[in-house]
Amino acid sequence: MTCDLCDEIGGALLWQDPRLRVVYVDEPGYTGYCRVIWNTHVAEMTDLTDADRARCMHVVFTVEALLRELIAPDKINLASLGNFTPHVHWHVIARYRDDAHFPQAIWGRRQRADAAPRAQTAALIAQLQQHLRVRLNQ
Ligand SMILES: [Zn+2]
Repeated sequence: MTCDLCDEIGGALLWQDPRLRVVYVDEPGYTGYCRVIWNTHVAEMTDLTDADRARCMHVVFTVEALLRELIAPDKINLASLGNFTPHVHWHVIARYRDDAHFPQAIWGRRQRADAAPRAQTAALIAQLQQHLRVRLNQ
């Protein structure tokens, strides 16, 4: 059986260690959409050891804090669904009041046209890579 998240990184790689990785998701209309992906097949957060679960959430909160610092969103959305893949993963999504779906989830009903980008994607990716390396490689 093939698995998309084993076969592919799942976005632009921002940071990784043997247990998990952070990718930047190229979603039109959304600047600052990241995913934290557990590298092996673990379906539920409660399947992780306490230490692994703590590490996973530390990475999620580090990404959240960085997005707030770098692009000052109106809101951060954190979501863990995992209905299509056996990898625990967290969506960390920068939201703005004028984005296409606000205040709905980004998977909800569209409210308006796409907002203008808040940052240049390549520059934001480079900043995220640099800061995640500093904050998580210790
Ligand atoms: Zn897999």
